[in-house]
Amino acid sequence: MNRTLGCALGILLLAEAVPGNLRPAPRQGDPRARERLEMVEKQIAAQGISDTATLRAMRTVPRHEFVPERYRDRAYGDHPLPIGYGQTISQPYIVAYMTEMIRPRPGMKVLEVGTGSGYQAAILAETGCEVYTIEIFRALATAAQERLRRLGYQSVRVRHGDGHFGWPEEAPFDAIVVTAAAGYIPPDLIDQLKPGGRMVIPVGSVYGVQNLILVEKDPDGKTRTRNLLPVRFVPLLSGLR
Ligand code: SAH
Repeated sequence: MNRTLGCALGILLLAEAVPGNLRPAPRQGDPRARERLEMVEKQIAAQGISDTATLRAMRTVPRHEFVPERYRDRAYGDHPLPIGYGQTISQPYIVAYMTEMIRPRPGMKVLEVGTGSGYQAAILAETGCEVYTIEIFRALATAAQERLRRLGYQSVRVRHGDGHFGWPEEAPFDAIVVTAAAGYIPPDLIDQLKPGGRMVIPVGSVYGVQNLILVEKDPDGKTRTRNLLPVRFVPLLSGLR
């Protein structure tokens, strides 16, 4: 089956599986709701993401509010976008994929490393997770915190810091999502993962090959890693900015 047909079929199946009355009603006065639903159907559901909570969150969070004003028209495209300081908001599919991979459930305590715009944090919060997020650029951390408050995600805790060291005062976490590429898996993050917990992290060189890795900690504290897919992320930096 060719890819086009695969997509068409995916949309058809989705239309069957999710009756219109179960879809979230577009927010009042949200001119981009239609673009967002189309993004989810074409780029996310049709590409194999099936976790209900993840899809619902991707249909709900107003992604255009997380990009600079001049990129609003491209907010729902199938690509990352610049957010300043050489950083980017990840491609929608990657955000959904990482969210699905941690199996988000209400009440789970989740650490995100690399707040950026705050979009991934809002998606996690929308699934009912309790979110702690760390950003190395003070200006991005401040802007993300204000944006999250304004959009109603005031439960998300934002900290300016170096995510290599995690958030020891709030550890352990049910899941950890790292949204910048590391040369190695930071040992503090492994320590701060609960037994039974899951971490997704891009690992690899800045300009070379990176792989998204799933780290699973079993109930006796042993970890296993699995390669998920090749990705391209901005680097995990050191030194506060
Ligand atoms: N999750 C973000 C995308 C972030 S891009 C979003 O949804 O918009 C990666 C982010 O990681 C950038 O904002 C970058 O400044 C930040 N970052 C890089 N190294 C870091 C570190 N050591 N600790 C915390 N944040 C870091």
